[in-house]
Amino acid sequence: MLSFEEAFSKVISSVKRLPQDIVDLVDGLDCVLAGDIKAGFDIPPFNKSAMDGYALRSEDLSSQIEFLCIGELPAGTSQKLVINKGECVRIMTGSSLPPGADAVVMKENTEKQGERIRILKPVKPQENVCLKGEDVKKGDVILSHGSLLRPLEISLAASLGCNQIKIYQRPEVSILATGDEITEPGEDIGFGKIFNSNSYLLACLLSSMRIPYKSLGIAKDDENELRNKIEEGLESNLFILSGGVSVGDYDLVPKVLDSYGVEKIFHGISIKPGKPIFFGQSERCFVFGLPGNPVSVFVGFLLFIKPALDKMMGKEPKLHIQKGRLTEDYHQKPGRKQFSPVKATFDEGWIITPIRNYHGSGDLASLREANGFMIAGDEISHLSKDAEVEFILW
Ligand code: AMP
Ligand code: MG
Repeated sequence: MLSFEEAFSKVISSVKRLPQDIVDLVDGLDCVLAGDIKAGFDIPPFNKSAMDGYALRSEDLSSQIEFLCIGELPAGTSQKLVINKGECVRIMTGSSLPPGADAVVMKENTEKQGERIRILKPVKPQENVCLKGEDVKKGDVILSHGSLLRPLEISLAASLGCNQIKIYQRPEVSILATGDEITEPGEDIGFGKIFNSNSYLLACLLSSMRIPYKSLGIAKDDENELRNKIEEGLESNLFILSGGVSVGDYDLVPKVLDSYGVEKIFHGISIKPGKPIFFGQSERCFVFGLPGNPVSVFVGFLLFIKPALDKMMGKEPKLHIQKGRLTEDYHQKPGRKQFSPVKATFDEGWIITPIRNYHGSGDLASLREANGFMIAGDEISHLSKDAEVEFILW
C-alpha cells in the first residue's frame, strides 16, 4: 500500500493548473493572478494636498504672515488657479496643488479675516503635500504574476483602474454521497438509516475556499443509480464521492468509475483514517473516492483534496505542518500513519492535547473539541508527555 508521502506526491504531480480566465474584480478574490499588472499612471497622479487648509508659496512666509485668498479648490475640480507671491487658495484634502504653490497650511493653523488669511504656523516646502508618483510610478509592476489576490490586492488593482482581472480559474467541483442507508437531513429517518453529513462538510469546506460546487445528492449502492450520478459528476474538474470505496459487497464506486473510463491512480493509502481512499482521473476530471466515515472525509479533504484544488488554482499545494509538545502520554496501534484529533493551544509554543474520548473515524462529535490533527508515524505505538509531535491546524 502507498505511504502517505507517495500518495500526496501522486496527487500533486497528477493535477494540473487550470486555464486562465478574466473575471470581475471582486470575483478574483482568493485566486491567483495570471500575468503582471503595471501602473498606467503615477499615484498620486498629481501633487495632492494631504490636508484641508490653504495652499501657498512657502518661501513667501519668510517675509509675510498674511495672504490673499484668491479662490477655492474642492477635491476633483478641474478649475485652474495660479498662485502668485502673497496669494493663497483654500484647498481640500485630495485636491491638486495649484501651480505656484508648494505647501499647504492646515486650516487649524490659520485665521480667516474676510479675503485675508493669517498663517499662525509656518510650513516648509512640500509640507502637507503628497507628491506625484510617490506611491506608485507609471510603468512599475505593481502586482506580479502568481500573486495571491487578497482584499488588499483587489483594491490595489482597482486603484490602478482595473475593473476586471486575469486569474487562474477556480475548479468546478461535484459532490456525491453514496450508500443505501444515507438519508438527507430534513427527511424522515427510518430504522438503520443515518443522515448525510459528509456532503455538508464537503460543501462548507469548498465554500470556505470560495470554490463553486454542485451537490449531486445521494446515490444508493446500486450500479444504475451510481452510473447516472457519476456520469454527471465527471463533467466537473474535480469530483468527490463519499462512501462505497472499501471492500464491502456493496462498495461499487471504483467499479462504476472504471466503467466510465476513470483511470485509477491509487486505491488505498497506509493512513488512519482514510485507508480506502481512491484517486483517479478521466479525460477532464480528477476523482476522489473517500470512505464514508465523516472523519475520513475530513482527513481526506485536508490532506489531499485541498492541496489538489490549490494546485489547480495556481497556488502552492502545501500542507502546513507544525510542531508542538504533548500534554499527556499518547498510545496508538502501530501500522499506519495516524491522524488523530487534538486540541492545539499556543503559549510560547504549541501545546497539543489529544482528544481523549475519540473512538474512530465515525466519531464526528468528538471533533467539536478539536482544532487539528496530530500526525504520528506508522511505527509509533507510544509517545510520552512533552514529546515533540507534528500536527496540522484546521
Ligand atoms: P462506507 O465507506 O460506504 O463503507 O461507509 C462507512 C461509514 O460511513 C458507514 O457507517 C456509513 O454509514 C457512513 N457514511 C457513509 N456515507 C455517509 C454520509 N454521507 N454521511 C455520514 N455518514 C456516512
Ligand atoms: Mg457504504
